Amino acid sequence: MATVTALQYYGRKDVRLEQVPSLPCGPDEVRLQIAYCGICGSDIHEYLGGPIFPPKAGEKHPWTGHQLPVTLGHEMSGTIVEVGSGVSDPKLQVGARVAVNPAWTDRHYGLEPCTACELGMSNICKRYASYGLSAAGGGLATEIVVKHLSCIPLPDSVSLKVGALMEPLAVAWHCIRTSGFQKGQTALILGAGPIGLAILMLLRVWGAKTVVISEPTASRKRMANDFGADLVVDPTRFTAPKNGPDPVVIATQGAVHADGVDVAFDATGIQTTLDTAIAAVRPGGTVFNVAIHEKPLMINLNDLTLSERRLMGGICYTQDDFRDLLQALQKGGIPAEKLITSVVDLDDVVEKGLLELIRNKAAHVKILITPNRVRSVRL
Ligand SMILES: [Zn+2]
Repeated sequence: MATVTALQYYGRKDVRLEQVPSLPCGPDEVRLQIAYCGICGSDIHEYLGGPIFPPKAGEKHPWTGHQLPVTLGHEMSGTIVEVGSGVSDPKLQVGARVAVNPAWTDRHYGLEPCTACELGMSNICKRYASYGLSAAGGGLATEIVVKHLSCIPLPDSVSLKVGALMEPLAVAWHCIRTSGFQKGQTALILGAGPIGLAILMLLRVWGAKTVVISEPTASRKRMANDFGADLVVDPTRFTAPKNGPDPVVIATQGAVHADGVDVAFDATGIQTTLDTAIAAVRPGGTVFNVAIHEKPLMINLNDLTLSERRLMGGICYTQDDFRDLLQALQKGGIPAEKLITSVVDLDDVVEKGLLELIRNKAAHVKILITPNRVRSVRL
């Protein structure tokens, strides 16, 4: 029996690199040899405190029917090694290089679109699931079988490494698009983690006039500078006595406009970053929450109402975000590979991947796993 080496998630702090049976390739599916797969902050959350997105022990996912263990990894690229009998897309042939949109929506189940999908918001489909979390197969494995709908064929100008970065970049793309950001506008980003840096990188493509980023960690401040921020502010550097004016708001007003920025992206999600985001946005501007919160925060709605600021949030991406992002990547000028801080073999995924990201978080943006570095293509 053919087997696949896969990082299996059994529950909190229980991941095992195991040999699992190779899944059959259905008529509407393709088999990929994984080239690269990134480790996401959400994988770390699952490891430390999950299951959050995977089904709980003894339960099945309501739509995919999948249960623990799940193979982790949802930021992947690979090469097609088998094509299902019903797949007719000429771009999806053996040898084709693809990125994967890991989201499952109504189309993947062959069901009528739900309200969200009908509105073009398939990222919040009520039947949402994801490879690497709640559907069979993940990218932290030597191979995966995915729906042909999930494949994004890569042009020659886009590498397999960048292909694996498309998922986190698509999150950033989606946030910028849905925030209503326009060319020539200004932005503040709270937090220079992987998503904050990806938003910074892509805001340049969107023609941002000025981008300020707030980040306390030295290594990430350096990265933010390197990624093209106009101004990097340390939110812990109070010039005034404690409880004095917010240094990020003061610096942002100085660099952009006394009335504030057009859009503030909160990629940190704590009380102080939300407060800063609201205070730094101009009248009629937008505060966009990208972070997932572990507890509720306080907000004075007068701060929105009296200046007609908008507060909104966004999650994941649609197929359109992947398409538009790919077009932007093809044009060039997005230094996406700068996001990669380490490339690691699958055998080392726990020690040099998951645990490294926990112990040495500030040193990394994106760690990519190469499950097939020394393996030949399986045909
Ligand atoms: Zn739906």
